[in-house]
Amino acid sequence: MKAGVLALQGDFEEHAEALRRLGAEAVEVRLPEQLDGLDALIIPGGESTTITRLIDEYGFREALRDFGARGGAIWGTCAGMIVLASDVPDLDREPLGLMDLQVRRNAFGRQVDSFEAELDVAGMNGGPFHAVFIRAPLVSAAGPGVEVLASLADGTMVAARQGRLLATAFHPELTGDTRFHRLFLALAGERTEDERLPARAR
Ligand code: GLN
Repeated sequence: MKAGVLALQGDFEEHAEALRRLGAEAVEVRLPEQLDGLDALIIPGGESTTITRLIDEYGFREALRDFGARGGAIWGTCAGMIVLASDVPDLDREPLGLMDLQVRRNAFGRQVDSFEAELDVAGMNGGPFHAVFIRAPLVSAAGPGVEVLASLADGTMVAARQGRLLATAFHPELTGDTRFHRLFLALAGERTEDERLPARAR
């Protein structure tokens, strides 16, 4: 399994480390050509305004859309979730629009800039997931093709999946718990298995 981490800005090193701990080959992606041959890509947390600006500066916009359209698995954490969304009213440029999500940036207000919560995640064994939120966004609306994987106690949606696309408002790479990384690699793996079949057998 060969997975990339978009390394334009943000906490990409922590993601790469988590992937390697699971035995995946992790590539720090700085140029669009590096997407060739990858099964999966993580867009890390950081600053979504900066990441989207650099995506355009380095010519990633089309390349990332193609990667998703070809069935590549993509996971956005925090700022990465903002980048993947289709509608972000308070972002200064267009997000990628790969996931049918409306996302609100810095949604938890200044007094709770950072907080932690125990989340029950759909399909995840081993008990609640300890989630770290840092100036986090939330999902304010999700399209019909989106499966909500986790919500806060008040119903706020904070993790979602749409096909091979995954979004989390929090930072699984900052805890020692690699269950989300494993779930993501499994999503990407489903694809490679599928593609090994001849087209008529799919
Ligand atoms: N507040 C940041 C943004 O809007 C996201 C923060 C994060 O990725 N930890 O881009």
